[in-house]
Amino acid sequence: MKPAAFDYVRADSTEAAIAFLAQYGDDASILAGGQSLMAVLNMRLAQPALLIDISQSLQMRESVISAEGLLIGASTTQAEIARRSNLMAEVPLLAQAFPHISHVQIQNRGTVCGSVAHADPSAELPLVLLALRGEVLLQSNQASRTVAAQDFITGMLTTTRRADELVRSVRYPLAQAGTGYAFGEFALRHGDYAACAVAAVVSRNGIRIAIGGVADCPAARDWPLLDGSALDDALNSLAWDLDARDDPLVSAKARRHLVRRLGLRVIKQAREAMDRK
Ligand SMILES: Cc1cc2nc3c(=O)[nH]c(=O)nc-3n(C[C@H](O)[C@H](O)[C@H](O)COP(=O)(O)OP(=O)(O)OC[C@H]3O[C@@H](n4cnc5c(N)ncnc54)[C@H](O)[C@@H]3O)c2cc1C
Repeated sequence: MKPAAFDYVRADSTEAAIAFLAQYGDDASILAGGQSLMAVLNMRLAQPALLIDISQSLQMRESVISAEGLLIGASTTQAEIARRSNLMAEVPLLAQAFPHISHVQIQNRGTVCGSVAHADPSAELPLVLLALRGEVLLQSNQASRTVAAQDFITGMLTTTRRADELVRSVRYPLAQAGTGYAFGEFALRHGDYAACAVAAVVSRNGIRIAIGGVADCPAARDWPLLDGSALDDALNSLAWDLDARDDPLVSAKARRHLVRRLGLRVIKQAREAMDRK
C-alpha cells in the first residue's frame, strides 16, 4: 500500500520545526530517520497532512557529554552514537544495547530521539533511557520542558509529548563509579524486535531492572540487593505484574518465563560487572 498524499517541508533548525508543529499540530508528523514512520504511513495507520523532515539538520545533529550525561540531539542517528569510541565507558548500557537493534542500515538512518518518540514497547533505546532514569527534552514555540523517562512513555506507541512539541534531545546519564550495568534480550531472529529485553543497573544500594518487549510499555522496578530465592521471588512477581502480551509468535507464558530467566541472568551480569570495579 502507498501512503495517503501529504505535503513535505524540510526544517533545518529547531525553530523552523516547532513553527510548523505550532501551525499544524496533530496534522503534522516529524520525519526523522523514517524507519518507523514510513511503515506507519504505508499502512495508513497515520495520515498526516504534513511531514516535517529534520533528518538533514546539522543544528539538531549533536551529542554532548557533560556531568549531567550524554545529550543526543533530534537528528543524531543511532549509528553516530553506536560508533562513539568511548561509549562503553560513557554509557555502558547503550553500548550493550545497540548490537541488538535491527541492522546497521536501520541504525544508519534511524535516530535515537525518533526511537524514544515512537515508543515501541520492544525498542531498546527507550528501555535504556528508563533504566538509567534519563530525560526527554521537549520544545514547542511556547515553552520547553524536561520529562523524566518514566513519565514519558504511557503505553503502546503513546507518550506525553504534546502535538506541538519536538523531542529536541534525550539525555542518558553517564556510568557511575561502583555500579555494574548489563543488557540482554531474546528475539526470534537476530535484529528482530525483542520478545523480552532486560536492562539492569546494580550497585551496593540495590538493583534497578527495566523490562521491554513484554507489556505495552517498558517498566522498571527498584529492589534492594536481593539474592537467591528472594531475587527469584521478586522476578516472578514482576513477571506476573507486567500483563505480558500474548501473540502467535511468543505467548504471554513464554514472556513471563523470559522475565524470570533472562532477568536473573542480566542481573547477575550487572552484579559481576559491579564486583569487578
Ligand atoms: C526492519 C526494521 C527493523 C527494526 N528493528 C528494530 C529493533 O530491533 N529495535 C528498535 O528499537 N527499533 C527497530 N526498528 C526501528 C528503528 O530503530 C527506528 O529507526 C526508530 O524506531 C525510529 O527512529 P526514526 O528516526 O527512524 O524515526 P521516524 O520513523 O522518522 O519517526 C518515528 C515516529 O516518531 C516521531 N518522531 C521522530 N522524531 C521525533 C522528534 N524529534 N520529535 C517528535 N516526534 C518525533 C515521528 O513523527 C514518528 O511518529 C526497526 C526498523 C525497521 C525498518
